[in-house]
Amino acid sequence: MSQAFNAIKEMEEKLLCRTYGRYPLALERGRGARLWDVNGKEYVDMLAGIAVTGLGHSHEELCEVAARQAGRLWHVSNLFYQRHQLVLAEKLLSTSHHSKVFFCNSGAEANEAAIKLARRHMRRVKKREAADIITLNECFHGRTLGTLAATGRDSLSDGFAPLPDGFVQVTAGDLDALRNAVTPSTAAVLVEAVQGEGGVVPLPAEYLRGVEVLCREKDILFLCDEVQSGMCRTGKFWSFQHYGLKPDIVSVAKALANGLPIGAIMATENAAGGFELGSHATTFGGGELTSAVAAKTVEIYLRDKLAERAAVLGVHLKGVLEALKSRHPDKIREVRGLGLIVGIELAVNTRKVWEELLDRGYICNLSHEKTLRLLPPLVIEQADLDGFATALDQSLTSSSG
Ligand SMILES: *Cc1c(COP(=O)(O)O)cnc(C)c1O
Repeated sequence: MSQAFNAIKEMEEKLLCRTYGRYPLALERGRGARLWDVNGKEYVDMLAGIAVTGLGHSHEELCEVAARQAGRLWHVSNLFYQRHQLVLAEKLLSTSHHSKVFFCNSGAEANEAAIKLARRHMRRVKKREAADIITLNECFHGRTLGTLAATGRDSLSDGFAPLPDGFVQVTAGDLDALRNAVTPSTAAVLVEAVQGEGGVVPLPAEYLRGVEVLCREKDILFLCDEVQSGMCRTGKFWSFQHYGLKPDIVSVAKALANGLPIGAIMATENAAGGFELGSHATTFGGGELTSAVAAKTVEIYLRDKLAERAAVLGVHLKGVLEALKSRHPDKIREVRGLGLIVGIELAVNTRKVWEELLDRGYICNLSHEKTLRLLPPLVIEQADLDGFATALDQSLTSSSG
């Protein structure tokens, strides 16, 4: 490790709460799908800030919009009408069947808003005292107390009890289990069509359609968390669109402003009827600077047809990785994913392989200590994906298991 890196590592340990197990890397510059660390070493970014910088780093048009808006107006409060917030809302709504937006600042907050809206919709619109939210095991919805309760993973909520009541969890993929879990107290079912933090697990199409049918039959709300799988990553603008689903409320964040903090929910007119004046609010939600950048981001996703690009590159990447699996049947257990969210489950020491990839200049993520998770920017070149596969091939060839 270099002196520059060691100095940074030391400061981090001294100054910051010990919440992050950090990778041994201090990054300081990015351009497109490339990153450089403090020693000047170049990397191919196969993680994009965990599905955030979908347009790559330092995107020229976004830099321009950010600089221009920074010199005009940053923030005025949601007490006032704001133009860029509306431009963003209009663009966002053009991508789905929804008709109302609420802006916040993160994925967890978006899910909080979705949960709050679902509960209030049941009480004020459907006039039913139903507040329970059903989620699926291996899901991830955030780290606030409410979304931790929704996530229902003991390792994440250790030491934080009591968590809010009103969350029920069932096994993903088991429609009977879900049917049995719905009671008169159920307000909504919340799912990720592709479970990201759960290790990149796309849920079966028939199951997802079955969940929606069940929600309609029971007259409860159907919620999709698109925080990671949204914004064109899976090959459609939103992952639920692969299955022809029409969720009542959808949560969005990560890639929405290509790295500036923003979250949102999109809701149908009917679902949104649960909110009234004063029901919900947040200081920074949809501020002018962030909204200007997000509006440009969505515009570029649509203009440059990045959903199609993610679909095409995803098929290519999966093909290359499946070929690699045939070459290393004892080392690659499974290749999963949809578009450019891909998981490679290994049967060997995955941390070691991941470290070697880092040495070879490829940044990806380690999930559950057994899956390499790839979330490259959607603007990445096919040659970089091929380069990653070659590096993985070399790492697997040299790994003894
Ligand atoms: C990252 C993520 C969240 C939480 O988003 P934050 O911005 O970290 O609060 C919620 N749901 C999913 C599916 C995510 O991937």
